[in-house]
Amino acid sequence: MTEALYLANLVDEVLVIHRRDKLRATKVLQDRAFAKPNIRFVWDSIVKEIKGSDKVEKVVVENKKAGERTELEVDGIFIAIGVVPNSEIFKGKVHMDSQGYIVTDENMETNVKGVYAVGDVRSKKLRQVVTAVAEGAIAASHAAETYFS
Ligand SMILES: Cc1cc2nc3c(=O)[nH]c(=O)nc-3n(C[C@H](O)[C@H](O)[C@H](O)COP(=O)(O)OP(=O)(O)OC[C@H]3O[C@@H](n4cnc5c(N)ncnc54)[C@H](O)[C@@H]3O)c2cc1C
Repeated sequence: MTEALYLANLVDEVLVIHRRDKLRATKVLQDRAFAKPNIRFVWDSIVKEIKGSDKVEKVVVENKKAGERTELEVDGIFIAIGVVPNSEIFKGKVHMDSQGYIVTDENMETNVKGVYAVGDVRSKKLRQVVTAVAEGAIAASHAAETYFS
């Protein structure tokens, strides 16, 4: 919804193609999106094909309930279907949660002493600039006190 709302300020119309018939976004974002006259929802649907010669011209959308396919004319496609932490190179080296986010203690230190994780790659609830920056400060301070003093 964040991406759809952002795009709706820049373009004539945003089509949100969603595979279910409801959203999981927070209610405030849903309310904002439903109130935007230029955001249209295509429910129960998935994109099967992107068509165009020099640029994107159409998407083929399949309605999962009816099983029918429809072509929609579009000028662009933005894929916003979730996130995967960029933690692959640390797999097997530090503890991670089931989704691949790195687990730390309150000092941002991993199970490997002297190795810290901060920001979006860390297992936590709120991924924002302010939390990433704060965690960097906590990690740096702890590392300085523990290993360099
Ligand atoms: C669409 C969108 C909108 C957002 N809007 C907001 C907002 O309005 N307000 C807000 O506070 N937060 C927002 N966020 C979240 C915010 O961007 C992140 O929480 C924040 O950037 C996390 O900082 P980070 O340093 O952990 O990761 P990043 O900012 O992703 O930085 C990681 C850096 O590491 C580099 N990197 C990756 N792999 C390697 C490697 N192997 N070697 C060296 N470098 C590497 C990457 O290139 C990147 O520069 C938004 C995020 C998205 C996706």
